[in-house]
Amino acid sequence: MPTKVAQKQQGAVSHRMNFWGRPAGPSTVAWDYEDMPWEIVRPDDGLPAARRSVRCRVCDRELTFTVYSVTGTGRRQARWRALAWAGLGILVAGVVVLFSGAMLGGGVALVIAGPILGLVFGMAASDEVGISGHGNGFPVTNAKHAVTASPPPYDLQDLACTTCGHTEEFPRAAYFREDYVQEQYEAARDRFARHVCLASGGTGPKW
Ligand SMILES: [Zn+2]
Ligand SMILES: [Zn+2]
Repeated sequence: MPTKVAQKQQGAVSHRMNFWGRPAGPSTVAWDYEDMPWEIVRPDDGLPAARRSVRCRVCDRELTFTVYSVTGTGRRQARWRALAWAGLGILVAGVVVLFSGAMLGGGVALVIAGPILGLVFGMAASDEVGISGHGNGFPVTNAKHAVTASPPPYDLQDLACTTCGHTEEFPRAAYFREDYVQEQYEAARDRFARHVCLASGGTGPKW
């Protein structure tokens, strides 16, 4: 799933602390990052990418990233997906070559390369958050500075009584499913509609 992007969203710039990957289980290495919160502000759709600077707390370097608009980011995600599909095409071509028996070695190479390219570009598509610079967003590499973006919360109107300040809470974090959030929001709206406002000289709760 591609990362959800919004014109304004909370992100983080991370400075990688270790030069070599720390062994973390068989055939995996771990990278320790020091995270600094960074509010990502994107240019309007249709405008070219903007340069945004942020100072790294760890190495005190001024980092400049290229930040793409929401639609610009969508195009970049689509480009990675197209390359991932091309990887699948290479796999299919390899199978065809193998069955034709024309070039056995070539067919094997294509069958191996295709899925690897598909995987690498597919991962790049899901990691793409429309921010480039300092090696961020390139597949496979482990940049010294990485940028991550938290998915923005659901855009729903607050349910707050303007007279007494009573608010009806509902979940809106991006990691909840959309239909769950919608269901909970409707329930909260029903509760809010039954709100008896004491401050406005209402009838008070009925027992
Ligand atoms: Zn740094
Ligand atoms: Zn009220």
